[in-house]
Amino acid sequence: MAHSKERYLFRKKLKELSEMKGQGTELISIYITPGYNVSEVTNKLREEAGQAMNIKSKQTRKNVSAAIERLLHALKNMKKPPENGLAIFSGNIDDKVELFSIEPPEPLNIQTYRCDSQFFLDPLWDMLEAKEAYGLIIVDRREATLALLKGKRIELIKSMGSQVPGKHRAGGQSSVRFERLIEIAAHEWFKKVGDLANKNFEPEEVKGVILGGPGPTKHGFLNADYLSNKTKKKIVATVDTSYTDEFGIRELMQKSGDVMHDLEIIKEKKLLEKFLSEAALGGLAAYGEKEVREALTMGKVDTLLLSEELMWKRVEFKCPQCGAIKEMTVKEHMPLVKCDKDHMNMAPHVEKDFVEELAELAEQMASKIEMISTDTPEGEQFKEGFGGIGALLRFK
Ligand SMILES: [Zn+2]
Repeated sequence: MAHSKERYLFRKKLKELSEMKGQGTELISIYITPGYNVSEVTNKLREEAGQAMNIKSKQTRKNVSAAIERLLHALKNMKKPPENGLAIFSGNIDDKVELFSIEPPEPLNIQTYRCDSQFFLDPLWDMLEAKEAYGLIIVDRREATLALLKGKRIELIKSMGSQVPGKHRAGGQSSVRFERLIEIAAHEWFKKVGDLANKNFEPEEVKGVILGGPGPTKHGFLNADYLSNKTKKKIVATVDTSYTDEFGIRELMQKSGDVMHDLEIIKEKKLLEKFLSEAALGGLAAYGEKEVREALTMGKVDTLLLSEELMWKRVEFKCPQCGAIKEMTVKEHMPLVKCDKDHMNMAPHVEKDFVEELAELAEQMASKIEMISTDTPEGEQFKEGFGGIGALLRFK
């Protein structure tokens, strides 16, 4: 739940940053990997400050220098970067030198300094795609490889070889015993693989598991009890691969990419189909800000549906004369709000992100929250036709 909200906020910040443009090549992006020495970054910045003196355009020179100053100042007291590293941005936006920093939801694996007319955001966008993880497992009698797929990134868990001897050995009476030993070794091997799979694939963020391998061994593995029921339920596809190592993982991924993408889309589609049919029948659905907000406060909401495209704010206005407070949703420009009592112009007092505010309300009422993309026609319809805000209700 919180996951969905955080993802939204992260996405929103990236969207805002991506819309910012510099007058010239003057917007600076710095990525600091976890554990990296911050003083090396500041040294690099000082070096860049020296280089900046050679910039021909006076305006760009001034802006780049000012941005570097802001960054140096921001990093001055930092001993080490946050757990997942830090992405920090500075530049002149609408005649003001701004600074933004993002603690990424996953560890940064790129250390960079860039100066461009836009902020460099690709590594962060990639993380956003890593909404959910998929377990990848390849197994045969000789070798097994396990990995997690997060977005486009593969995290190898382990590749291991078995001690199971080959089946072919010259016969005689001892072959029966030998066969038996092989089977015991194989059992131990599959058990080891299964335990590792359960440990890594049972957690909730793993949305599906894809099993691969050459030949029929994978089916035997699946039909036996090496995998827990919890893991078994997550298996969404079984794929033939030629390899059992990391190449096999890539093969598995290529052959099942569509399956995984479809799964996320299908889940969202199902949710929206339910919402749309309930809404059409006047059943257990609510939509529009007012109605949904009301249903939320009354504890009627089972699942709150919010379009990822919502970029609104919830603003508290305050009257300078009598101190009266008015809360409003601001969709684009800040409106002129007058006090009901004395008609004074009220001033924005507290600003909150709209989705964040609504999500907090939902959390208090133990309602689930689902962010809806606009990747499907249903998602688009949800945004255009229902304003991107809706709910499935527990009761009416
Ligand atoms: Zn007033």
